[in-house]
Amino acid sequence: MKIQMVDLSSQYEKIKQEVNAGIQEVIDTTTFIKGGKVNVFQKDLENYLGVKHVIPVGNGTDALQIALMAIGLQPGDEVITPTFTFIATAEVVALLGLVPVVVDVDFDTFNISLESVKKAITPKTKAIVPVHLFGQNADMEGIMSIAKEYNLFVIEDACQSIGSKYTFDNGRQVQSGCMGDIGCTSFFPSKNLGCFGDGGAIFTNNDELAAKMRAISNHGMVVRYYHDVVGVNSRLDSIQAAVLEVKLKHLDEYCANRLKAADYYDAVFSKTDKLIVPTRYTKSSHVFHQYTLKLSGVNREGLIKHLADKGVPAMVYYPVPLHLQKAYQDSRYKAGDFPVAERLSECVMSLPMHTELDEEQLEYITSSVMEFLDN
Ligand SMILES: *Cc1c(COP(=O)(O)O)cnc(C)c1O
Repeated sequence: MKIQMVDLSSQYEKIKQEVNAGIQEVIDTTTFIKGGKVNVFQKDLENYLGVKHVIPVGNGTDALQIALMAIGLQPGDEVITPTFTFIATAEVVALLGLVPVVVDVDFDTFNISLESVKKAITPKTKAIVPVHLFGQNADMEGIMSIAKEYNLFVIEDACQSIGSKYTFDNGRQVQSGCMGDIGCTSFFPSKNLGCFGDGGAIFTNNDELAAKMRAISNHGMVVRYYHDVVGVNSRLDSIQAAVLEVKLKHLDEYCANRLKAADYYDAVFSKTDKLIVPTRYTKSSHVFHQYTLKLSGVNREGLIKHLADKGVPAMVYYPVPLHLQKAYQDSRYKAGDFPVAERLSECVMSLPMHTELDEEQLEYITSSVMEFLDN
């Protein structure tokens, strides 16, 4: 059997007619940039998320950059991000001349550790960028309360968590990316809501920030050819919006399929203490962008090789925490500073996770893993 990490082709087959018709409509109307399908998708997503403003942009990295540009920071201002994440989160901070201050994560949830955030706050700290890693929201109750206490902006990196919901202590349930001042997501093809190229979006309930970010994403322009601020060119195109309009209608079903696969994995892998299955955090639903195991006393290279030989891909997200990346070498940090992230980078392994996994494939994947452990 040949298994894929992400099976976009089988997913497309089921919605092919609708997607193709949407794309054809864009071609027929030639509204390739702005208007048309982009407006429709924007409204649909605002309704789905229950958020006041969605600003479609070119990709998730741009979304993060535009968000940081909108909150009026000065060079040298500090932005706190977890060290165990995809590089984009810190990259945009560095690009804007801000100082990325990385902090450790919780071993159980992979998400930013509140204790580490508190320790990293200085008079120069202006924002926290929590990442809802692998599809599960970080402890937003705690993060929002720290942000309030220290008067910090919160920009959620919801690139892996669209559709996940967080329940606050008062019972209020909010969609991922809609809890902080600003939320950012990516529509990269393999993300939970993926298009057929690059795409991203910014969410906010703040009218003023929304207007600013709309302008920044379009050359700092509100009235055509009058530029109020220095901006960028970052737009979602209409063909991508046509794909997303169709796929958004299936997002809940896609999340349910991922959850079902994760449940299957959990049931098998919970039987051995050599594997630690993903912790389900009670306050957040999990949309399983990735299904990530922690290995305990297992030779990771050996297991990945064994799986590859059986046609089962497995990946390491992420092998090197940010503070140990070559491009981010900084006299402030050294190996050993963030022991949890460093330990995770050595013991995590992600298995195939997508909307089209069936029982036969799951049985094959799980038995291939167990076979290695039993030897
Ligand atoms: C994918 C991803 C991004 C970047 O999104 P792009 O659309 O690829 O630019 C940022 N942060 C996280 C956590 C991601 O997973």
